[in-house]
Amino acid sequence: MVDLSDWRLTGQENYLLEVELQWRTYRRYPKNPAWDHDHCSFCWATFMVEEHPGVLHEGFCTLDEYHWICADCFDDFRELFRWRVVPPRSRGV
Ligand SMILES: [Zn+2]
Repeated sequence: MVDLSDWRLTGQENYLLEVELQWRTYRRYPKNPAWDHDHCSFCWATFMVEEHPGVLHEGFCTLDEYHWICADCFDDFRELFRWRVVPPRSRGV
């Protein structure tokens, strides 16, 4: 049961409802390599390529790698958002 007053819910249903997600290793956003990190769309955990204490290196992302979601938030909100999980690609890009 999802608590709709959860502090992490800030309107993500406007852009993350029923989207396709895929588990990937974090890399810099291809369309803007100047970004060196991203945040979980819900709890703001940090995704980075570099090693730093507490940062995440993999998680669920939208297929354009614009939105990232950590494993904990994925588990908490997957039913509410009805995400479709896309299997990992068998071949690298
Ligand atoms: Zn999170």
